[in-house]
Parts: sequence; structure tokens; C-alpha cells
Amino acid sequence: MNRQTNKRDNSGDSNDLTYKIKSALFGVAVGDALGVPVEFKSRKTISENPVTDMIGYGTYNLPAGTWSDDSSLTFCLAEALTQQFDTEVIGKNFVEWLYQNHWTPGGTVFDIGIGTRQAIDRLAKGKRAENAGNFEANSNGNGSLMRILPLLFYCSDKPTTERFELTRQVSSITHGHIRSITACFYYLEFARHILQGKDKFEIYKILQTELPDFLNTLSISRDEIQIYHRLLENEIFGVNEERIYSDGYVVHTLEASIWCLMTTDSYKDAVLKAVNLGDDTDTTAAVTGGLAGLLYGFSDIPGRWINSLAKYREIENLCHKLGRYLNETGTNNAPRVETEKNYYRINMQKALFVARELHKRGYEKLRVVPCVSPSGMSWRCSFVTEKDKAIISNWISSFLEEEINTEINYSITELTNCFEREHTTFLETCKGTDKKYKEWYKQMLNQLEEEELPYAFGEYFSPTDYWDTSKNRKIATLPNEARFYKYC
Ligand SMILES: [Mg+2]
Repeated sequence: MNRQTNKRDNSGDSNDLTYKIKSALFGVAVGDALGVPVEFKSRKTISENPVTDMIGYGTYNLPAGTWSDDSSLTFCLAEALTQQFDTEVIGKNFVEWLYQNHWTPGGTVFDIGIGTRQAIDRLAKGKRAENAGNFEANSNGNGSLMRILPLLFYCSDKPTTERFELTRQVSSITHGHIRSITACFYYLEFARHILQGKDKFEIYKILQTELPDFLNTLSISRDEIQIYHRLLENEIFGVNEERIYSDGYVVHTLEASIWCLMTTDSYKDAVLKAVNLGDDTDTTAAVTGGLAGLLYGFSDIPGRWINSLAKYREIENLCHKLGRYLNETGTNNAPRVETEKNYYRINMQKALFVARELHKRGYEKLRVVPCVSPSGMSWRCSFVTEKDKAIISNWISSFLEEEINTEINYSITELTNCFEREHTTFLETCKGTDKKYKEWYKQMLNQLEEEELPYAFGEYFSPTDYWDTSKNRKIATLPNEARFYKYC
């Protein structure tokens, strides 16, 4: 493995913000355009006639230099960032791309992923941008990763929590599942360290500590973080090509792009390696190309490839416009995204206090089983007995109007009264005394901070004698509580 220090860009203007934006955006577009003519071709087929240069026609029968949705949506995002940050503006640009051919290379949209199409259709019908994307675990195509890079220039100077929140918002316009958000975040963090001039192997190592440390402060299930183990725990650059996958799954695209970056020493070699992996060639090369452009600099991207790009001048103008805007406003002076109160957690925490109130009213056999949903994005909690259960998190959600982001306007007493009225059958099974549990539960609640939620992860395969919390703490449970986790 070649561990030589990065070849750096020595051109005079390499520290200029606009130059860096050009390195990233042209890096994406050139990679994309190299892959378009062979998109969907298998690795085996491509290996018989490997791509070594910018070619035309092929899959879509379009001239050389034609870029696709990856670049279009990247430009739509970059354009939106030339004014005050607003996810609605980003969403509006996406709609204009799909329905009015905005930022298309030749006046038509010829390539689009399923999740992106569904989200943009929802945007066109008036859905708020931040909630337009799919949130399911089976909607983790590479559609937000392929277009996320311009966000780097807006958020690189902000604190980690704000960078993550911005990444979440922008990814969620089309891809709202935590897996897609994590991929975008890893990618942007890698890019941020490149901007700071670090060596790529140093960055890889840093992220193995920095990223899990930060993600563990969020209520993300361990299983979700573990999905990225090939990047976060192992040396992906030592993996053989047969074990690098280049389909449209976001995890595979991120892995493949980092692999291509780490195992080559120039922009050209990195993107050609990505294209020749086959399958989702344009996106793997676009994602690789963004980082490789930043790492080696605009001057390392072959000039003839850049000159062949459709709308080369428009792209260059966009880079200048974004650079000018960010220089004028200063990314640090740009309006801050407030780290708002997490009303979801505040409201869900009320469920836990309803349980204490029910204990006080003589329902001491009621147990509480909290866990994180399989998607990792929501908290589930059931009230259970040996005979019955009620999913309390769903019940609390029924008090929320759609997309409401405020605190439920009921006191714990009022909520408990409602629960008593609506769950008479279940509460019959809760009657009785269990002083030990009641006391432990009260102590557990006393330990919780505002917005903090506990969860047991439903680990009935390997029962634990503690609950984790969303603030990365552990709370000891009574012995044998894990026998109830199957109810969650
Ligand atoms: Mg494409």
C-alpha cells in the first residue's frame, strides 16, 4: 500500500475559496461525465474495454462531457447556497431541475433515482423540503451523497452539532434515513479535513475516532453505526477490489469512493478507478471525484476533460458566485442554525412521567420498555405487563399535529387522565403492588436530564443489566428486566 504523502496542489491560487469550490464542483462533474456513457455496465463487461478517457455516447447516446443528475443536483444545491441558507430554496431548485430542466447539460433530465424522484414529486406538491425525502431503511440509495458536497463550503467553520444538523436537513430533502445522513456526514467531514490540508491517511484515522465519538452522542442505534465498520474500524484501502461494491446503495458508494481515493495518487487515477468498478459508474466517480478534486486541486483535473464538459462556463460562473457570496458574508457570519430544543424528545419523555403517575395511582405492575426503532431515527416505548402491552410512544404521537415542533400542551396529570380513560383493559393488568420496581423507576427518572431518553435496544439476544441514554450514559436496571424487552 502506497502511504506517500498526498500530492498537493501547488498552483498560486490554491488557497482561494473559489478555487476550492471549483476543485470540488468540477471534480464531481468530470467524474460524473466519465461514468455516464458506461452507467449500468457490469465490472466484468467494462474490464474487457476499460475507460481511460472522456468518451461519449454509450448508455444514453449522449456526447462526451455530458454530466447527469449527480452534477445537476450538486449545482442546484450550490446555487441555493449563493443566498441565505434555506432548505426550501434548495428544494425549489430540485423541482425546477426535474420539471423545467434547470441545470441540465443538454436541456433534458435523463437520469434520476427512485427515492429522489419520489421526494421531488412530493416537493412539487408542496411538502416541506426537510420532510420530503423517504425515511425508511430501504430508501438508502446514494441520491443525497452524490449531491451533498457544496454544503461543505457553507458549514465547514461551524460547530460539529451544527454541521451534522445542516447535513441532516439537506440530505433529508431526498433521503431522510440516518444511514444516508451518516454517509453524507462522513463524506463532508473527510472533505473538511482535506480543506485543512491534512494527509488522506491521517484523515482516515482521525475519522475513525471523531465520527463514532460524535455519533454516539446522538440517539442512533449501534447497529446503524456498525454498518460503517469497514470505514470506521478497518482499513478499507487494504480490501481487494472484489469486495468493493459499486451499486447504488449509499454505504457501498461511500466505501467505494474512499477506496478509490485511498488507493490512487491523482485525480485522474481515482476517478477512472471508480468508473471501471462498473454498475453505478457515474455516481461512484462523481462522489470520488469531489474528494479527489479537493485533495489534488483543480489544476490536477485534466484540462481536456474540463473543457469537454457541457455548460463549462456556467459551472465556472456558479463557482465564482458561490465563492463571492461566502467571502462577502463569511461562513461564520452566515445566519446560524439554532440548535433548537428537541421537542420530539421532550414530548416523548412525558410518556415516562405518565408511567410514574400511573404507579402512584396503584398500577405498580406496569413496566416500561424503551428502545430505539430499527431505523435508528425514532424512539419506541411500551408499557407492558406479563399479560398485555400498550405502545406509549405511538400514543404520545397521537397528541401531535403533523410536523408540529412544539411541546404538547397537556400536563402529566391530564395526559395520565387521558391514558386511564383510553386504556382501561390494559390497566386492569397493571393493578397491584411492586414497590421495588416503583422505587427503582422513580430513581431512574430522577437521573434523566431534560430531553434525555433511555433505551434498552431490545437486546433480548444478549440481555444487559443497564439502559443506555441519548446522552451516552448508562442507567442500571433491576436484574432480569431484559425478559420484558421482547415486547418492544
Ligand atoms: Mg447519474
